[in-house]
Amino acid sequence: MSTESIATEAMDGRTAELAANLADLNKRIGAACHAAGRDPDSVRLLPVTKFFPATDIAILHRLGCREFGESREQEATAKVAELADLADVRWHMVGRLQRNKARIVARWAHAVHSVDSERLATALDAAARAALEAGERGEPVRVLMQVSLDEDPGRGGVAPEDLAALADRVATAPGLQLAGLMAIPPLDAVPDDAFARLAHLHSLVRADHPEATELSAGMSSDLESAIEHGSTCVRVGTALMGARPITSA
Ligand SMILES: *Cc1c(COP(=O)(O)O)cnc(C)c1O
Repeated sequence: MSTESIATEAMDGRTAELAANLADLNKRIGAACHAAGRDPDSVRLLPVTKFFPATDIAILHRLGCREFGESREQEATAKVAELADLADVRWHMVGRLQRNKARIVARWAHAVHSVDSERLATALDAAARAALEAGERGEPVRVLMQVSLDEDPGRGGVAPEDLAALADRVATAPGLQLAGLMAIPPLDAVPDDAFARLAHLHSLVRADHPEATELSAGMSSDLESAIEHGSTCVRVGTALMGARPITSA
């Protein structure tokens, strides 16, 4: 991260705040990797910028960030259009995706972290192939399968018993590329237990699909635990951007 290239005195308040938060997070990630005996380069920080304006994303881009996570299709689609001139950006859809929004998201998403059913995978595959054919994207959509770690289907995620079939479906879809797994621990769960379970499921998926190396796990409050259990991508909102409005999903 080349934050040094911007002199602190020259920064406006928001830039200084985001730069300081980024530095803190990189320290946290580095310490967690050290504690887990992992290479710090094996974990990426994915800023989740939902509810924050495109101007913040432009600042993060100047601070060296190139990948951004968004969770709400309409908001994301608008920001992607507004920031079309930013170079080398990869957008990640991390929130729940309705099948009828697959075509729109396939225009801009490098990766989707929330694929949790074969029906959604099928819709996203068709959408990605249409986008490829129309020249709206150059590569398949990278797919992380969101797995449910509780028994509440309302919160999204494929049930662990359906994960293997979903992985096979994604792996054989020409418009998709199976990248790995994603999960959000249940609200009442001990993060360590949830991430240990997720790591086990990840090892089962990788046994069949060695290319599914990504593990999208860990947020502002639990990224250390996620890194201990093999996360390759921590999705951080609050600890980087500040508090969201309380209507946040
Ligand atoms: C908002 C969001 C995050 C970031 O959460 P924080 O606790 O604010 O870091 C991560 N993942 C998903 C899917 C989100 O919607």
